[in-house]
Amino acid sequence: MPTPLTKPDPRCLTLTPDCSLKNLEQPYIYHKGDDELYEVNDEAFEFLKKCDGTRAELDKSADPEFLTYCLDNGLLELAPSPAPRTFPAKPAPRPSWRYLELQLTSRCNLSCRHCYLGPPGREDLALPVVLEILSEFQEMQGLRVLLSGGEPLLWPHLTELNAQLDRFDLRFVLLTNGTLLDENMLGRLQVQEIQFSLDGLASGHDVLRGPGAFARTVKAMELAKSLGYQLSVATMIHACNLHELNELGAFLEKFDLVEWGLDIPCITGTLTRHRELLVPYTEGAKFLSLAYGGGYHGTGAGHTCGYHLAAVMPSGLVARCGFYGTDPLGHVAEGLRTCWSRRRHLPAADLDCHACAHLQECGGGCRFRAGSATGPDPVMCAVYGVDPTMKEGA
Ligand code: SF4
Ligand code: SF4
Repeated sequence: MPTPLTKPDPRCLTLTPDCSLKNLEQPYIYHKGDDELYEVNDEAFEFLKKCDGTRAELDKSADPEFLTYCLDNGLLELAPSPAPRTFPAKPAPRPSWRYLELQLTSRCNLSCRHCYLGPPGREDLALPVVLEILSEFQEMQGLRVLLSGGEPLLWPHLTELNAQLDRFDLRFVLLTNGTLLDENMLGRLQVQEIQFSLDGLASGHDVLRGPGAFARTVKAMELAKSLGYQLSVATMIHACNLHELNELGAFLEKFDLVEWGLDIPCITGTLTRHRELLVPYTEGAKFLSLAYGGGYHGTGAGHTCGYHLAAVMPSGLVARCGFYGTDPLGHVAEGLRTCWSRRRHLPAADLDCHACAHLQECGGGCRFRAGSATGPDPVMCAVYGVDPTMKEGA
């Protein structure tokens, strides 16, 4: 254990490259490598703002115990020479926008039978637009960017963007079907996490995505794991994978995932033409408890889902999440802050099922899947054993 600093040190205290300050609903240090928010008090936050890598002997003004904790946990370091860091000048919006789903392209090399976006397209965000989006999101003190599509590996500017990712105080997660991810790309990627879409074992996955897709995705996962990436998996529950989900969970253990997200798909996009894939909600809901990690679509301060989340589509439209592209908040050309200010967060107390005994834990579930602005989400009702037709809750 390092010796606590008890006397001035001529070196310059600075946040480590993975850490940045975020003044959200509360002040935090954000560690983008671990996706951890460390809550600090106002006094500590003011001290940390001065740790910009330009001044020596700052330890005089710090609580030695706090300083030792930060140094031991890789939040602060002593730089041998000045390493200036900046802090956003404008306050973060309230509520804070923490999670951005950035759909770089509508292109895809697969035509999955359950894709909520429908058939692949040919629309791409331009590179300067994406860089502007990221700069503005960072200035708004966002945390995490999901680089998605379509299939983001088909976005023509990915190599150029990738070369610049490390200059942002944001965690980048690449959401991919994995079939195009080769050694060359994995050797260069500067993302903190790769999230793979994996909808079952070989039979359950390939029935949606085509023959051989499972083998190619798993090969990419194994390669990514061997190269040290943090991995996560997103799985849709459907009629052809119910019988193998427990086995899939056991198979995934070797990847030491940071998140396994399971969900029952909303009936939209391509799935509307493949209703044979649907499962009764009471059946599918039994498997949702296999999930771990995540929580980015969550509720907050007594409001319904997506409290800290919004998406940018390949068209440049900004929407409350990927499902609301036809009801956008605005366009990136107006600025992210303007678009976010139009987001109306629904209080859970305004839901039809506000009297439900499970409201606090459930938050009313997915607003899109509920099918109406204030109705109950039938999947969450299945999870809690509630009759979704009951207006006054359980
Ligand atoms: S509507 Fe559904 S997909 Fe959209 S943020 Fe809410 S939970 Fe997530
Ligand atoms: S379980 Fe159903 S009725 Fe209860 S809060 Fe959730 S969505 Fe509403």
